[in-house]
Amino acid sequence: MTTLNINVTLSETKKEKPQSDQLEFGKTFTDHMFVMDYTEGLGWHDERIIPYQPISLDPAAMVFHYGQTVFEGLKAYVTKNNQVLLFRPDQNFERLNKSNDRLCIPHIDENKAVEALKQLINVDREWVPTAEGTSLYIRPFIISTESYLGVAPSAKYQFIIILSPVGSYYKEGIAPIKIAVESEFVRAVVGGTGTAKTGGNYASSLKAQQLSGTKGYSQVLWLDGVERKYIEEVGSMNIFFKIDGEVVTPAVNGSILEGITRKSIIHLLQYWNVPVSERRISMDDIKQAYADGKLEEAFGTGTAAVISPVGELFWNDEKMVINGGKTGEISQKLYDTLTGIQTGTLEDPFGWAVEVPTEAKALATHV
Ligand SMILES: *Cc1c(COP(=O)(O)O)cnc(C)c1O
Repeated sequence: MTTLNINVTLSETKKEKPQSDQLEFGKTFTDHMFVMDYTEGLGWHDERIIPYQPISLDPAAMVFHYGQTVFEGLKAYVTKNNQVLLFRPDQNFERLNKSNDRLCIPHIDENKAVEALKQLINVDREWVPTAEGTSLYIRPFIISTESYLGVAPSAKYQFIIILSPVGSYYKEGIAPIKIAVESEFVRAVVGGTGTAKTGGNYASSLKAQQLSGTKGYSQVLWLDGVERKYIEEVGSMNIFFKIDGEVVTPAVNGSILEGITRKSIIHLLQYWNVPVSERRISMDDIKQAYADGKLEEAFGTGTAAVISPVGELFWNDEKMVINGGKTGEISQKLYDTLTGIQTGTLEDPFGWAVEVPTEAKALATHV
């Protein structure tokens, strides 16, 4: 057991909780947050749970200027028996450290981070929404806080976890989206920061997202940054296709963000003996499969939506309607299985669901 000394300061007032049918993504936050600091020479220190509040930073804090920052996203769900479950949280903190490596941010202790998260969730346990399809979205992140305008790794950081109750991603069952292939802008290149969850990747994706939105497409399909030929990701999700009975997804190549949902889906398909492969896939391959009537399904994968079926793909002035614009069989089965494991309604043969025990209390407490 990791021992952690977290100082807890409870909020004197409690915010009003929104009705479960009024929850939106990422707009409401709970009563508390977890914070710890990093100082060069001292390491990570001052682990604390405090009332949710603004952070005060010097205008010269490095994060504002050169974007040295990383984040994660995961969810907690309440089961029928009032247990709170996390989905593979160890994977998120392992990936946070990979992002840290790329951004020259010091590593955190992954086990302690999971423990801190469990304690924070316990403090705000009544905020985990219970209605069908709702969950508590968890956003851990690190920012560089040293006041210095030199382009160099910061000597100070803050690691923060905030929690946000979120509504059902799909109000009326899972629904396919329309996406457009992006041929002008790129998300990442091999050697860049595409494999890290770092703010700059999302800032640079907004332009393409905005332009495709004006044409009626909800997400863009990113191609490789060199040849603009090979498929990378959709929006901020990984992408899968079912072609002639085989499920395929772009191989991790040094520019794709390796999703935990992606990894779990590959594992599930192998467990079901459904043919699945990770390889390079070009838009020409997709067009050919479509022309041959072999493009059976397409879906994006990520923590927020879990599975987002693709009903229409637009490329070079041509529309490809996939599976009649409807959710495919394997997309639906993957969605039902993953959400079943996440919410505790299905058997979890893989040990992916991790309970937040009610006794996970902070060691030092004062109000
Ligand atoms: C977070 C993210 C994903 C999906 O990762 P999950 O761990 O499945 O949520 C995919 N692509 C990008 C660019 C991302 O930021």
